[in-house]
Amino acid sequence: MNILVIGGAGYIGSVFVEELLKNKKKYNVVILDDLSTGFKENIHPKAKFYEGSQLDYDLLSSILKKEKIEFIFHFAAKLVVGESVFQPIEYYENNVGGMLNIVKCMRDCNVKNIVFSSTAAVYGNPLEKDIPIKENSYKDPINPYGSSKLADEYILKGAYEAYGINYGILRYFNVAGASKNYGSRIINPTLLIPVINKSLLLGGEMKVFGDNYKTRDGSCIRDYIHVIDLVKAHILMMNYMIKHNKPNIVNLGTSKGFTVLEVINQVEKTLNKKVNYKITGRRQGDPAILITKNSKAKKDLGWVPKYKISDMIKSDFEFRKKFVDKK
Ligand code: UDP
Repeated sequence: MNILVIGGAGYIGSVFVEELLKNKKKYNVVILDDLSTGFKENIHPKAKFYEGSQLDYDLLSSILKKEKIEFIFHFAAKLVVGESVFQPIEYYENNVGGMLNIVKCMRDCNVKNIVFSSTAAVYGNPLEKDIPIKENSYKDPINPYGSSKLADEYILKGAYEAYGINYGILRYFNVAGASKNYGSRIINPTLLIPVINKSLLLGGEMKVFGDNYKTRDGSCIRDYIHVIDLVKAHILMMNYMIKHNKPNIVNLGTSKGFTVLEVINQVEKTLNKKVNYKITGRRQGDPAILITKNSKAKKDLGWVPKYKISDMIKSDFEFRKKFVDKK
């Protein structure tokens, strides 16, 4: 099967390509990435690489035709929640404009299947009674990142009804960790576990954004999921779509919540190091609690997450050490 991975040089995209290419006989992988937040080092040597934008109609449609693409996985997005609050236009332009272009190219080139990386941020700031979050829980994003992804989901729904484009939507909770060779190479990370590990590797104090939320210790609660568990769900979603020939939407998380302070504690225990942190004000756009109920992923896809938060911490630390040390 000929597969296009848009954003295959990024964090999750590169781990996914590695997972696919473990089955080189079955999958022929093409990557499209503009390297805006992706890295050349993350491009798998056995994948064919095109450098360019998801917004480029001529380039994307020529790849779909030339490579006879049958399945698209779309990972490419601007994804920093806090930044999106200050750059809404850039977020909508890239994330929504990108999806419109992809769907247009799929329609024009007769490509019928896409798996899309969505996010827990589509649910906004859920009420306590709605935790854990189910796929049909109320959606009301509280930042432009979340609303751009929800708009993308609606675009896919329309494309299915109008053009018969089949889709799988995976709503990620908090992805963390790395494989041995692929992971997040961002030097100045914004995600919690990489931020903590960076502070351990390079020194300096990390900030805890708020301790006055309505949670057990006042800091925000998130559901952390290992990137290897996450990418495996993409292959299961592809199999589901082929078998059932209909769209599906699932949440991906472990159904376990950790506060920011508990994550710090887990890092200290796992790596046997002391984290230097200070409590500061809230970060704009942060909901208090995001925990999923992952029973639909289990039931529909047969997906069961294997890794624990200590595995995420350790693998991120080991991966980060390889490139941060050299700077
Ligand atoms: N967070 C923090 N300090 C940081 C980065 C994140 O306290 O330097 C908190 C953030 O406010 C949120 C949680 O950690 O409550 C997870 O944030 P992250 O950016 O990792 O993921 P998000 O949930 O925003 O997608």
